[in-house]
Amino acid sequence: MLKNRRQKLKPFFEKYNLDLLLIEHPLNLRYLSGFSGSEGILLLTPENGWFISDSRYTLQAGKEVEGLTVIERTQHHEGLQALVNQSSASNIGFEATHTTVAAHQSLAARLPSVKLVAIGAELDEIRTHKDKKELRQLAEIASLASESLETVLPLIHQGQKESTLALELEFEMRRRGADGRAFDFIVASGVRGAMPHGRASSKTIKAGEFVTIDFGAVLNGYNSDETVTLAVGAVSKRHQQIFDTVLKAHDMAISAIKPGVSCKAIDAIARNHIGEQGFGDYFGHGLGHGVGLDVHEKPLISPRSEAVAEEGMVFTIEPGIYIPGFGGVRIEDTVAVTSTGCSLLTKFSKELRIL
Ligand code: ZN
Ligand code: ZN
Repeated sequence: MLKNRRQKLKPFFEKYNLDLLLIEHPLNLRYLSGFSGSEGILLLTPENGWFISDSRYTLQAGKEVEGLTVIERTQHHEGLQALVNQSSASNIGFEATHTTVAAHQSLAARLPSVKLVAIGAELDEIRTHKDKKELRQLAEIASLASESLETVLPLIHQGQKESTLALELEFEMRRRGADGRAFDFIVASGVRGAMPHGRASSKTIKAGEFVTIDFGAVLNGYNSDETVTLAVGAVSKRHQQIFDTVLKAHDMAISAIKPGVSCKAIDAIARNHIGEQGFGDYFGHGLGHGVGLDVHEKPLISPRSEAVAEEGMVFTIEPGIYIPGFGGVRIEDTVAVTSTGCSLLTKFSKELRIL
């Protein structure tokens, strides 16, 4: 299975004429080798490779790393130097977007006779298409998170603190078997809803307010991402109008998703609807992003995106309207692109719920 993933690197070996490819970013390490620890080095040839570990992780790497030789070295770059010197490598690719200047300098000093070739963000794009196992894991964690919110719904009421709600939701996810939360939850009630990334605060929720909850759980490295906006007691007509606009934009975008449709076009469908309803100035962010081992990864669903929806991609659709001094609404689901359309991985129903 992981060998198939490593096959995705073949085009880089060809395009950049690489003898070896060096992988250090923890998410890419996990994706390509199975290793779930925080540090290690993967040194790959087009067909094979080594995993360089240290004593903290050798046992774990021995269990987790699939189909590669595990080598223990106190200093990772020292191990790398020895392996490279044994080979006749002259071009070694590295992850330009994840390598610090200091790490690059250290490598260059240790390997004076080889050329270090910078591979940019295109390397992370190997994770864009999910395989069957990943799709199962993403569906499982998304369901777990949605069900957790259903369970804590009775705690959402007038007088409740945003931060208490965030804590109870995290407890519930962990009770159900999640490894933890995928990110700091956003719980933004009333006027705080105008902040797209308003993290849970000590504010208490009042009657007649919307509360926007953006939440996700993580299990075996895979994340979920979902946002609901709920009404606490009856809300004003303006609230209702804003909610209906966001929900319609969300539904229209999701109906349009199928292989071959550009991510830019999917964004435009939601953005145009919000614009037509007169709220165009209040939707500043992109419509969505890929979800996987990272909460935010490729493809981007935005006016600037060059990506095209393809079967196996998993991404969010999350239109919002944020009005300073008033509040906001965001509705977010994570979808998996299928051969004919898409399926929802997140399960909490999105019609307006009045609590
Ligand atoms: Zn989110
Ligand atoms: Zn998101």
